[in-house]
Amino acid sequence: MNKDNKDILKDESRWEKVQLDPNYGISRWEKADRINERLENMRAQPIYDVNDDALKGILDFYDNKCGKSKEITTKAKEFIPGGVQHNLAFNYPFPICVTQAKGAYMTDMDGNKYIDFLQAGGPTILGSNNDVVRTKIKELLDNCGPVTGLFHEAEYLIASEINKHMPNVEKFRMLGSGTESAMAAVRVARCATGKKRLIKVGGAYHGWSDQMVYGLKVPGTRNFLESYGIPSKMFAYIDEVRPNDLDMLEHFLKRNKSRGGTCAVLIEPVGPESGTRPVDYYYNQAVRQLCDKYGCLFIMDEVVTGFRVGLGGSQGFFNVKPDLTIFGKIVAGGYPAAGGVGGKKEYVDCMAAGVASGMKRAYVGGTLAANPMSALAGYLTIKEIEKTNACVKAGQAGDRLADGLQTLVEKYSLPFVVYNQGSIVHLECAGAMSYDFSSYNVLRSMLWALKQKPEIMLRKVAMEHMGAAYMSHGLVSLAGSRLYTSLADTDEVIDEALNRFDDVFALVEKGAPTKIILAEQKAVRDAKSSEKKATKKANQAKWKQESEDKAIKATAELVKIKSQIEALHSEK
Ligand code: PMP
Repeated sequence: MNKDNKDILKDESRWEKVQLDPNYGISRWEKADRINERLENMRAQPIYDVNDDALKGILDFYDNKCGKSKEITTKAKEFIPGGVQHNLAFNYPFPICVTQAKGAYMTDMDGNKYIDFLQAGGPTILGSNNDVVRTKIKELLDNCGPVTGLFHEAEYLIASEINKHMPNVEKFRMLGSGTESAMAAVRVARCATGKKRLIKVGGAYHGWSDQMVYGLKVPGTRNFLESYGIPSKMFAYIDEVRPNDLDMLEHFLKRNKSRGGTCAVLIEPVGPESGTRPVDYYYNQAVRQLCDKYGCLFIMDEVVTGFRVGLGGSQGFFNVKPDLTIFGKIVAGGYPAAGGVGGKKEYVDCMAAGVASGMKRAYVGGTLAANPMSALAGYLTIKEIEKTNACVKAGQAGDRLADGLQTLVEKYSLPFVVYNQGSIVHLECAGAMSYDFSSYNVLRSMLWALKQKPEIMLRKVAMEHMGAAYMSHGLVSLAGSRLYTSLADTDEVIDEALNRFDDVFALVEKGAPTKIILAEQKAVRDAKSSEKKATKKANQAKWKQESEDKAIKATAELVKIKSQIEALHSEK
């Protein structure tokens, strides 16, 4: 490791001095190495999963208690690809149809009530459907409706409110989603620096635009995991580096000097996939230094962390000044059209809106972007967070949940890994997502990933079972491995949730039905493949018969024509 970089992350004396700001929702920060070591230990052990009987019970719950959800989502499959519209909807054994969401709870169509740790994927830090925000939004809708296309006071209110809490965000351009905002930020960085290449961190999610579906979910997977339908040339100007690895980052920054230069380094501040890949406390500061050294912009994607980690975002928590910040989720308070890019005036001004023809600018837009409803909901939510100290309280709920889960993991001697960054709680039961194939060499990453694929698939099955087990015990998680807490999670809610987790963990065994399910899946695959072969054979026989028939018909035609010609000749 380069000496300077080594000093920043590994210097033990610096770690002893880490003082976390109590105004933020993160009260402790574990070293990335330690978490990674725990994850490695888990992967070195057999897979743990709910036992066979328990799995039957879970599936019975779905069949007997979720009949209406089953019926509607089965019908929906006819009209909706995959049957659900949202990537975060848990599909195993089938999705649940929600009819009510309030505070810490949601209720499904069949009347089952769940403790909600999905929280819509992060935007509802106040808890679902906050009363203060909803009342004012109703008034707005009564008066001006959700959208006008012209200026609304709420646009000013939210931009100035963000600036009050995040002084680095001198100006703010509100957009329709995190995906769009990441696209815009990169475009601004290219306009501002005149350089082309972008460096992102493996496993990080910055939306689904063409150039961003690169190195998704698992570090080192570049464009060979999820990038179907995207021409490989779309990735001509993007590099992927290993999470928390400053040497690899510096290597690419150096290399890029002779390849068009780096416009920006783009990171998720608590680590890729909302901290699923841990980073060290000093990582963000170190990346800032490297960006300055190599003359590129530093972009922080605060779509999840903005107003969750604290009102000052991760940039306040880590005390780092990014050049550009990407917003989403909480910026519209759980209402639709949540996105935006903010930062230094000199950069954000490139996105000047209004009818400003002829100006050199980074073109961004959106018919519904910054509509009065989204802007006002975001502003009111930030105000409410401030009033209620929501980030700190949600963080305390996250600590209580993570501590309780750790106690349960020990009680049942499970290899599960629990850690949290305040209100973002990670509960890795299977570790399907905890692989890292980062390497300087594409081929090496690819071969490595291919080799691990069967094990990853096995772990994914266990992860789905655990998610379904939580659900059937009244706990909604994000894909069975992440839990977002909110202001609505009182000690009573968390303790009730822990009781339910206790019931689920009691059902877990080494090995368990993962193998059975895989055998069943293989049997289905084998049956499908023999059906395919049989159809192919039948088609071939049909084609053979058809061509033989055609040949007989053609020969008969020929004979007929021949005899007609002969008849003509004999007439002559
Ligand atoms: N960046 C991060 C860090 C995210 O977590 C997400 C969404 N989960 C996005 C960008 C994309 O945001 P959106 O879904 O609003 O497009």
